[in-house]
Amino acid sequence: MVYTGRFAPSPTGPLHFGSLLAALASYLDARSHQGYWLVRIEDLDPPREIKGATDSILRTLEQLGLHWDHKIVRQSHRLSLYNDILIDLTNNGLTYPCTCSRQQIQLRIGNALYDGFCRDHRPEADQLCAIRSRYDTNYSFDDRILGHQDFAYQKEDFVIFRRDGFFAYQLAVTIDDAEQQITHVVRGSDLLDSTPKQIHLQRQLGYHQPVYAHIPVATNALGQKLSKQTFAPALNQNERVQLVIKALNFLGQQPIAELADSTIEECLSWAVEHWNLTAIPACLSMPLEKS
Ligand code: GLU
Ligand code: ZN
Repeated sequence: MVYTGRFAPSPTGPLHFGSLLAALASYLDARSHQGYWLVRIEDLDPPREIKGATDSILRTLEQLGLHWDHKIVRQSHRLSLYNDILIDLTNNGLTYPCTCSRQQIQLRIGNALYDGFCRDHRPEADQLCAIRSRYDTNYSFDDRILGHQDFAYQKEDFVIFRRDGFFAYQLAVTIDDAEQQITHVVRGSDLLDSTPKQIHLQRQLGYHQPVYAHIPVATNALGQKLSKQTFAPALNQNERVQLVIKALNFLGQQPIAELADSTIEECLSWAVEHWNLTAIPACLSMPLEKS
């Protein structure tokens, strides 16, 4: 199989430093393996979507010289595919409807993992339902950065179709990674807990399992995620290079001083040539200031 990587932003705002890290790391890993790099817009959650965010993200990627292969896939155009697969899973007895509201769950078990209440409490007709995946197995996998990951402690029947009528991220991302023949996933470690859920669905659906690498999430000095610091697409040449150098430093690469005066293309081709995944710090999050 040809190396195929991807960047899969949700259009909930313009690109920010955290999403730039995922974009850059997945791009450099793909290009350094002479692989494809695809972009998929995960626009499955209209209530959280910000108008214009997709265009803004794509323009920023282009400005940063992160050019993708093939056509962009938008999840909002693939609902009938997700629906067919949801029906297959359900017909195979691998799902069940759940009528619990967030509030009911909170009252019953607090913030604990979902307790499987609706496994034995069938909803009455016309009740608003989510659909959960039955999740009884323990999964582990070897992360290219974080090493062996074991999730025995957090088994939870997770939602694959939301009570408000939308397909859930876990289902769509699993289907799309398989359908786009993604061989390597490089993304933020905020999604580490999602990986066993996606592996679970891959096994049930007979999909190939991609190889995973989870990069640290950038935080401020207080340990909070940096997702609010967004970039407008209109960066000048020098700002673009500075940004990529900052991201390379965070990712443990050692950009040489000369890059500061290079073009964005020169900077990226240096980064592809010198890409060293093993230099990425093996941790879940890291303050940006220290790097
Ligand atoms: N769309 C997800 C996000 O922006 C990322 C999905 C993934 O990389 O698996 O958080
Ligand atoms: Zn329930």
